[in-house]
Amino acid sequence: MKPSGEILPPDDPRLADQAGGWRSAYLHVPFCEEVCPYCDFAVVAGRDQLASRYGKALVAEIRSAPDWGPLDAVNFGGGTPSRMAPELLERILQELSSRFGIRRGAEVSLEANPEDWTLQKAESLVTAGFNRVSLGAQSFDTEVLSYLGRRHTPARIGRAVTVARKAGFVSVNLDLIMGSPPESPSSWTGTLRKAMETDPDHLSTYSLTVEPGTVLWKRVRAGACPPDPDRQAERWEEADRESARAGLVRYEISNAARLGHPCRYNLSVWGQGEYLGFGNGAHSFRDGRRWENLRGLDRYLDAVESGRSPNHRFELIEGWSAETERVLLGIRRTAGVRIGRAGEALWKSARGRELRRAGVIGLHEGRLVVERPLLTDEVSRAILSMPPPENAELGKVFAPES
Ligand code: SF4
Repeated sequence: MKPSGEILPPDDPRLADQAGGWRSAYLHVPFCEEVCPYCDFAVVAGRDQLASRYGKALVAEIRSAPDWGPLDAVNFGGGTPSRMAPELLERILQELSSRFGIRRGAEVSLEANPEDWTLQKAESLVTAGFNRVSLGAQSFDTEVLSYLGRRHTPARIGRAVTVARKAGFVSVNLDLIMGSPPESPSSWTGTLRKAMETDPDHLSTYSLTVEPGTVLWKRVRAGACPPDPDRQAERWEEADRESARAGLVRYEISNAARLGHPCRYNLSVWGQGEYLGFGNGAHSFRDGRRWENLRGLDRYLDAVESGRSPNHRFELIEGWSAETERVLLGIRRTAGVRIGRAGEALWKSARGRELRRAGVIGLHEGRLVVERPLLTDEVSRAILSMPPPENAELGKVFAPES
């Protein structure tokens, strides 16, 4: 994964703008060993026997997609894509390549969990064309890992990074979850230190959230302690400091990378770039239209295997809706976003003036930048509460031509 031409820093505004023109594919793989108590993704446990059928469905869905491409980034997420056999993942990559084309130097990434990550599997995946792996490390504290329902040990994370390097992965990311109730300040400090010792190219740090309907949500409703947002803010600040000290550059609220290693798929999505999603629950965005696939695995398989489209919930993202969304996505990045109509409307509004006075937002060479990233949600709420200008075109639901 060698980006062509000059390698721009991860937080460079030129990179942020370029990424809006990239095209990506997202492949959802729903299989997991167990469903973690905090997870609300479209996943299933104990159904790996469907993997081969599911791989065929993905190939069929790719084959029937409209002409498009070539791809700048391919991202297998989930779920746990590494639970699928490398040969199946390779077959899907081949189909993407022949249907859309994959650019030279494109990012080809998958998510993997440390417990089932072996050298043999990693080498097969590199041979298949993968160059980036995102490891679900979450924590280096056994008590926290147990609370999160994760089955790997801290030692396994270090081994997984070594294996990825040995196999030839160009870029290795670690995902960490911060601010779970059993996590003490020293536990988080230790997690950050051990994460940095593995020398990752990329680090993603997410706050634990309680999503409705999850096991964690039920526990909290029954009286268990929820995550504390103030503690999570402190954890974020420490992660920001420590990752910078280790030479990683934060380019989005939750993501930091070394030079040449920001996640191209995510950069593209935050830049309002187009993407096609395949698999149950996957979302797509193309030609100003957004849609999603049937979320349930069985319903998805039934649709594709009987020759029906799994796409539903179509939405036109145009006019003011598209402009608002551009700013909402763009302000997540350190590089900010070209101010445009929605940014200007915020800047000139009463709430915008308050945010300026408080040093929350700033304007740099025509870009709206959130100067205090922990208040990004506050800025988003201000944008969403702005009334659309008169005669603004708004996004709407549409029925696709059949
Ligand atoms: S491994 Fe990841 S995708 Fe699977 S259940 Fe756990 S959090 Fe969800």
